[in-house]
Amino acid sequence: METVTTIAELRERLAPHRRAGRTIGFVPTMGYLHEGHLTLVGRARAENEVTVVSIFVNPLQFGANEDLAKYPRDLERDSALLAQAGVDFLFAPSVADMYSKPMETVVDVPKLGSELEGAARPGHFAGVATVVTKLFNIVQPHAAYFGEKDYQQVAIIRRMVEDLAQPVKITPVPTVREKDGLACSSRNVYLSPEQRAAAVIVPCALDEAVRLIRSGLKDVAAIEAQITRFIRTEPLAEPEVVALRHPETLAAIDTVSGPVLLLLFVRIGQTRLLDNRVIDIASENGMEAA
Ligand code: AMP
Repeated sequence: METVTTIAELRERLAPHRRAGRTIGFVPTMGYLHEGHLTLVGRARAENEVTVVSIFVNPLQFGANEDLAKYPRDLERDSALLAQAGVDFLFAPSVADMYSKPMETVVDVPKLGSELEGAARPGHFAGVATVVTKLFNIVQPHAAYFGEKDYQQVAIIRRMVEDLAQPVKITPVPTVREKDGLACSSRNVYLSPEQRAAAVIVPCALDEAVRLIRSGLKDVAAIEAQITRFIRTEPLAEPEVVALRHPETLAAIDTVSGPVLLLLFVRIGQTRLLDNRVIDIASENGMEAA
């Protein structure tokens, strides 16, 4: 694996592969890698001839009161994991290289980006859409891989790629979980042992919603209220977003009449945990987002 830290060098190193007509698969990350990231990498490798992973903690997507400075970082360990996983190029630019001048240009998908997690984190998704566009322009991948754990992010990226005719295929990858069901996340490291034990309320709330919907409850406001109460049974957990939505448009709905997306944003101490599930009452099982 080659580690490249500047835009110019990455372009130069990828040029021969592009000339040879090789397919390039790309996995953008903020590092501090876990099984979820490595599953994305596995898909990229399986489906492409050259695999590029970026590690960049993007200041544009952090709010003023968020965890940019303390976001966990361990480039040495990440680099060893990616080499072991058979990645060809690790792109780990500095902030000065990515943003050599203050950014004047913003890519925004304002409707999809201002609700749900976007309402709790103003500006977050514009920061994501802007850095992902810039990374796509640098890497020019054929395909890019994103985790369904960040369901709203996938919806925004897909819409952005469609609206701007960006020449890249977006592949969503199902959420990878710890043994007790908690979605793998770099931010799980912030949790104290007590908070980590409490965090299991998040995947349990997804199961609870499946039970409620299977039992015949259809009124969205009633289901959201019951799930909010369920999460509050854990004293360390504060639900910030509990929303049943249309799984493709993310539009608000009144009644469950087909597959629905349950999106959760739950604060435990200072840490915000994100999770979701697409629940399809027509099939016997509540399924992961497809
Ligand atoms: P991050 O480093 O948190 O920005 O995540 C980089 C990519 O990994 C994003 O596309 C995430 O959606 C994805 N990802 C994060 N956690 C998981 C997980 N538990 N399962 C699958 N993909 C994930």
